[in-house]
Amino acid sequence: MEIYEEFRFFSKPLLKEANEASNREKRNKCINPSLIENLPLDFVFHVVKFIYHRKNELRLFVEIDETGKIELLDTSITRYETLPTIRYFKNGKHEINFTERPYPNGREWQESEIKKPLRKQSKFRKEVLGAYKNCCAVCELNLPSLLRASHIWDVKNGGPDTINNGIALCVNHEIAFDSGLLIIKPDYKVETKDKIGVIVKELKLPENKSDYPCKEYLERKFKLINKRVK
Ligand SMILES: [Zn+2]
Repeated sequence: MEIYEEFRFFSKPLLKEANEASNREKRNKCINPSLIENLPLDFVFHVVKFIYHRKNELRLFVEIDETGKIELLDTSITRYETLPTIRYFKNGKHEINFTERPYPNGREWQESEIKKPLRKQSKFRKEVLGAYKNCCAVCELNLPSLLRASHIWDVKNGGPDTINNGIALCVNHEIAFDSGLLIIKPDYKVETKDKIGVIVKELKLPENKSDYPCKEYLERKFKLINKRVK
């Protein structure tokens, strides 16, 4: 079966436990405990991405509701690696895998608690990945499980779920795009910085012109990133 997406995830008890640990370990980003208290018990909370934050520490982007609201949590790499994984398949089915847990004091996690995985294969993802023929628009990686349909204009800030507000990006390039390390200009030139200097290349565009990323949305994103950098 073809994997569509794969994530590590928190159950509510695991999230509570990891958050308490991060608090105890005096890490920078923790989640407000009362927010966790109010989360449903039977949902899975995907770690949609992470960045290497400091030595042995990851900053996790945890999706805490169906609208895709993200909370940041800094945690050790070891703890992250013990989180269960969930795989979504093209046919809409999913499979959960548990790892050995070195933290015995937390509440025992039970698979039967999961009723509703949060992430359904969204129409948006299907359409965007389809338009880009399941390839990252920057590096042309074509492993669907590592691809994301990235919004140019965030949905939580009013961006639409239309193909021209999306770009198919691999996990790495999505993080770089979000953080401003990789810039996609309104003329579809891609700029990345590395040790040697700035590399410019063309974005790999969809076949259909009407699916091209909207220039105004790219402009908007570009301005926001510039504001953040200054
Ligand atoms: Zn890529």
